[in-house]
Amino acid sequence: MAAVIPCVTRISQNIIRILGCNPSSETQQGTNTYIIGSGKRRILIDCGEADVPQYINHLRAVLNYEGIDLAHIFISHGHEDHIGGLADIFEHLKDKTKHCQVWKHPSPKDSGLNIPKHIEIENFKEGQEFAVEGATIRILRSPGHTDDHVAFHLLEDNAVFSGDCILGDGVAVCEDLFDQVHSLGEIASLRPSVVYPGHGNIIHVSTERNITRF
Ligand SMILES: [Zn+2]
Repeated sequence: MAAVIPCVTRISQNIIRILGCNPSSETQQGTNTYIIGSGKRRILIDCGEADVPQYINHLRAVLNYEGIDLAHIFISHGHEDHIGGLADIFEHLKDKTKHCQVWKHPSPKDSGLNIPKHIEIENFKEGQEFAVEGATIRILRSPGHTDDHVAFHLLEDNAVFSGDCILGDGVAVCEDLFDQVHSLGEIASLRPSVVYPGHGNIIHVSTERNITRF
């Protein structure tokens, strides 16, 4: 059985994980969202689902406790369990999102997303880097699970936030197997020391392990 994921976990100096509180057969224990950085303005990776007040309350509590706001929200891909909570975050945490930019890789399917007009979504560029205090993140295109999927490389820790490209428990489903295998190879080539997945527990990668066979 997979280890239980708490609602809020301080993982390190620059990473806090907040569970989306949206458990289901598809999302496992729920969507993992992550607050990255150590300064007053930080990055949130993924948003959980719409209409989950428990998640918004946890996110608010963490932002208040840390005395921080959000500089950026990164969406790993356009599935409801990763982008659905975006409107709720803007609506219920206005003071924390006043100067927040939202980023995603564009997809033809974006027109079907239920995002209010006043929330502008900017397009990631391949290899684009974002820096906040305590964290530099490079965008890593990783299609396969979906056509718009991106992962995030935290350079300071050589860690990868894998979205649904790699799951902590179980195997990711994919729309395009060839793209998925290629994306896994790209992530493996970074030889990350740790992978923080969109669902499931953290994956620690042994330094002795030969991962070039991906
Ligand atoms: Zn997901």
